Amino acid sequence: MDPHGDDALGIDTRLVHLGEEQTIEGAVVQPIFQNSLFLFDTVEGLFDAMSHNPGSAPHSYSKSSNPTLNLAEQKIANLEGADACKLVGCGASALSIPIIANTSAGSHVVLPDTAYFPVRHLLSDMLARFGVTHTLVDGRRKEDFIDAIRPETSLIYMEAPSSIMMRMQDVDGVTAEARQRGITTMFDNTYNTPIHFNPMKHGVDIVCHSVSKYMGGHSDLIAGAICTDAKRMDSLVRSEINAFGSAAPFVAWLVVRGLRTLPLRIKRHEATANTLAAWLETRPEVARVHHLGLSSYPQRELVEKLFSGTGGLFSLELEDQSLETANRFVNALRFFGKGVSWGGHESLALSMPVKTIDGNRVAIRLFTGLEDPKDLQKDLEQAFATLAVSG
Ligand SMILES: *Cc1c(COP(=O)(O)O)cnc(C)c1O
Repeated sequence: MDPHGDDALGIDTRLVHLGEEQTIEGAVVQPIFQNSLFLFDTVEGLFDAMSHNPGSAPHSYSKSSNPTLNLAEQKIANLEGADACKLVGCGASALSIPIIANTSAGSHVVLPDTAYFPVRHLLSDMLARFGVTHTLVDGRRKEDFIDAIRPETSLIYMEAPSSIMMRMQDVDGVTAEARQRGITTMFDNTYNTPIHFNPMKHGVDIVCHSVSKYMGGHSDLIAGAICTDAKRMDSLVRSEINAFGSAAPFVAWLVVRGLRTLPLRIKRHEATANTLAAWLETRPEVARVHHLGLSSYPQRELVEKLFSGTGGLFSLELEDQSLETANRFVNALRFFGKGVSWGGHESLALSMPVKTIDGNRVAIRLFTGLEDPKDLQKDLEQAFATLAVSG
């Protein structure tokens, strides 16, 4: 199958077959190339390979390329409509590497105040030491980004919907303005996966994923993915990825396994989340449900314009805004595990205080797993009942 053609084939077909035509001994699943380096007949052959196509065959060192990594990367790049993809150690690394590559002393970054916390930490606590400045914006209006642009702005960072508060950004509006001014744009596409949104088709230059979430899908791996055009990837692989390294081959092999069922899983997560979010909205204990799939979602028009689906992650606020009550509710849940991350087979819940430009609140983030939605609803019901009894 031509990895760059065959767009007429369905996503599910591409995920199952892309890159899988030449197996060793006819094995239906590709082996793991668990080797750190590759041997060449001559020294000249080795150096020639290293100077061409960094990140793909002929491979010289698994730090930057390896056949098992390339199989997962080829599938993700194809889904995103990107020239190239590289798998790295974790999602935060996939976000940090392009930020480092697109900033230098004196440059400025604009990003939403509700962006994934470690990215804000990278800018405020690490890159600030090297003279990189940044501005946090609300980000729900494209003017929030545009008004924050300075002559030294080198990067605009988006994450839609953003972490916990699930806020949208006007991707087309922001990228059009950034292109005109020669500013690079980045997008954290973890929530959507390439199944529901392809940011590069909306003018974004670099798309990143936490593969630890939906793509891995079984809560058994940590990885990140960077997708971009051939020129940017060539530079990333020769510099930043060469410095920080790729994911391990075994992890890449697990990613290939996870990708095969990604479209199927995400549909189920979404159906359950839609049902439960609509039901939660009717509960007297609940003040607000922040879920992109609800007709009450304030930026619904933007969601419908950009995304083809919304998945299983959302958040809510209780009428009782105390952290103690939110914790009590989450602690009472039986099938929603108390834990970080999301995107695997199991439902998860997390209560936390959230600080934004427009105020402080206590939010509960829910991820609906692959369990029977009826059991999850019963679980939420009994947790509400414990609030009534003890509150
Ligand atoms: C989890 C997450 C990340 C970070 O991914 P890790 O693999 O945990 O490093 C980045 N962005 C979003 C939106 C996430 O949910």
